[in-house]
Amino acid sequence: MGMRLIGPVYLVGGQDYNMVYLDWPAHDANVYLVDTGDMMVLVDCGCGESLPGILANIEEMEFEVRDVSHLLLTHAHLPHAGAAEAARRNDIELVAAPAAAETLLHGGPGTVAYHYDRRFPLAKEVTVVEDGDSIELATTEFRVLQLPGHSAGSVGYELTSGDKRLLFCGDVVRAPHLEQHRSRLDYNRDVYVETLLRLLDDPPDVLYPGHGPFCLSHAEQWISEELKKVLQAPVAP
Ligand SMILES: [Zn+2]
Repeated sequence: MGMRLIGPVYLVGGQDYNMVYLDWPAHDANVYLVDTGDMMVLVDCGCGESLPGILANIEEMEFEVRDVSHLLLTHAHLPHAGAAEAARRNDIELVAAPAAAETLLHGGPGTVAYHYDRRFPLAKEVTVVEDGDSIELATTEFRVLQLPGHSAGSVGYELTSGDKRLLFCGDVVRAPHLEQHRSRLDYNRDVYVETLLRLLDDPPDVLYPGHGPFCLSHAEQWISEELKKVLQAPVAP
């Protein structure tokens, strides 16, 4: 099953909505599908085990999996990118920021696989995008926004639909378990605060986060909440 959201966006995976049910805590992030009018684009892909279910959800909505051309990765954490190499073997081009691409290709603490007591399947090839890049796919333009702090390689992908700007923000807003992230090696509180302040300068209308519910209006409120949470959290020892 899949769920249509605002704009050309569908939810096709993610454990918070049981989009692919696994009877153990797989921690899969939300997995979005964007219909560009020609090819289809995935944003994040879950830990791995659920990929066949995600692809089945796409087919069930009467889209063709073979039309999925790109997987835009918001960062290299396992719940978002564990299935990336398996997706690539399905002829889907992987896209990530430089630091995330390094982690996807070579591993290391930036996958946070250790946190889940798991092995991260390394990617063989990743297309690197930089802040400000524009990815044009059929009728849709995705703008790349560097959003470091939660992890060094965090980016958002923004598209415009009608009069709304929709931002896939990964874990930059509504990050789960902030208290665990604080001690992670690629977490940088000061950089994260700067990122959130920059987002507040020019907030999108809609936020599609990596976990939990979507923010379909007044995105700046959620960004402010996240900033408050980060500023109030004790600094890691
Ligand atoms: Zn994360």
